[in-house]
Amino acid sequence: MIILSEEQQQMLTTIRRFVEREVKPVASDMEHRDEYPHALVERMKELGLFGAIIPAEYGGMGLSFTTYAMIIEEICRGWMSLTGILNSHLLFAYILAQHGTEEQKQRLLPAMAKGEKRGGLALTEPHAGSDVQRIRTTAKKRGDVYLLNGTKMFITNGRHGNIVAVAAKTDPTAEPPYKGISLFAAEKGAPGLTVSRDIKKLGYKGLDTSELAFEDFPAPASSLIGGKEGEGFKQVMSGLEVGRINVAARAVGVAQAAFEEAIRYSQQRETFGKPICEHQAIQLKLADMATKIEASRLLVYQAAVKKDRGERCDLEAGMAKLFASESCQEVALEAMRVLGGYGYTQEFHVERFYRDAPLMTIGEGTSEIQKLVIARNLLQKYKI
Ligand SMILES: Cc1cc2nc3c(=O)[nH]c(=O)nc-3n(C[C@H](O)[C@H](O)[C@H](O)COP(=O)(O)OP(=O)(O)OC[C@H]3O[C@@H](n4cnc5c(N)ncnc54)[C@H](O)[C@@H]3O)c2cc1C
Repeated sequence: MIILSEEQQQMLTTIRRFVEREVKPVASDMEHRDEYPHALVERMKELGLFGAIIPAEYGGMGLSFTTYAMIIEEICRGWMSLTGILNSHLLFAYILAQHGTEEQKQRLLPAMAKGEKRGGLALTEPHAGSDVQRIRTTAKKRGDVYLLNGTKMFITNGRHGNIVAVAAKTDPTAEPPYKGISLFAAEKGAPGLTVSRDIKKLGYKGLDTSELAFEDFPAPASSLIGGKEGEGFKQVMSGLEVGRINVAARAVGVAQAAFEEAIRYSQQRETFGKPICEHQAIQLKLADMATKIEASRLLVYQAAVKKDRGERCDLEAGMAKLFASESCQEVALEAMRVLGGYGYTQEFHVERFYRDAPLMTIGEGTSEIQKLVIARNLLQKYKI
């Protein structure tokens, strides 16, 4: 099992207190109103969370991926949407820290760590999600700027963020197409970038998921991440492991929250003269739920520990993401059933967990895509 340092313990205790005292009491109401959590974002800035995995030399906390996963799980026990605000931002920061020029890192990372600059990652387009290399957004060089044209879809932090990593084709004719993709750290302010709409969702509410329209948006040449064209696809892919560990950790947190509500309720609700937790059918549900959550958590830690050792973990991160997100969906539904009719009402949190759960099977690569990644890695590992 993971042995935590004193510092990690303290960090988790602080986050747990924040979630219990400040997040849980307001989460469901704000989520139902689809209200952006400005005050909680300010608190997350104070807690340093926008710099969680940004290296200390650039003003971040430089936490291990394992600690980060544990923090994400804790926050999701309160409200999963908050981790969406953090994750796109930190994924962008991670890519920048790995591939940015020194000038870009010095200029952007300290402000990102403080949450002054808050980032998003804009890959998906209306016609291209899983198949990223089919994007159509273009970036044409004109003097010392690139003019960006295209539409990005489903962009987390698209409205409230002020800087966005945009994948665009600097060479639309490149073969294979991914070789023509570059990544730009586009800062809002110049004309040509419009948040054309906010997308209404089943769950995962409160935070902005937006469509962005770029029309001759001038991205300075200095914003081309790494300073070299054609590296964007590889840069994005290098962040996938981190993104998948994060989404898997979110799934563990949401599932844990649903389970806790169910096991509490099962000891209070009586039918046929005894608490429902004494009916074997309910016990079987609780046992299955807890086992799936524990297995998911261990898969997350396995991937995160490997990442912390500096090793590739596509296989482990893919398995963690696949298993944890599918389990989360199953656990949320079972938890709702334990609560009977009340589980279907807004009087309990479990309906929110049930609506949040499917997102984890989609974001950072759908379950189908995870299976392809897992199979590809297995075939390589067991190649005869
Ligand atoms: C709430 C939310 C927030 C998001 N935030 C962001 C963000 O911040 N930035 C961003 O860039 N994107 C974001 N996305 C987009 C997300 O990453 C994509 O929705 C996801 O990658 C799937 O792409 P798609 O929706 O185009 O589905 P498609 O790629 O069209 O897939 C449709 C179906 O086909 C399956 N499929 C596709 N290809 C294959 C294959 N080869 N084999 C088997 N099955 C396949 C998929 O699994 C899925 O079931 C967000 C999405 C949502 C819903």
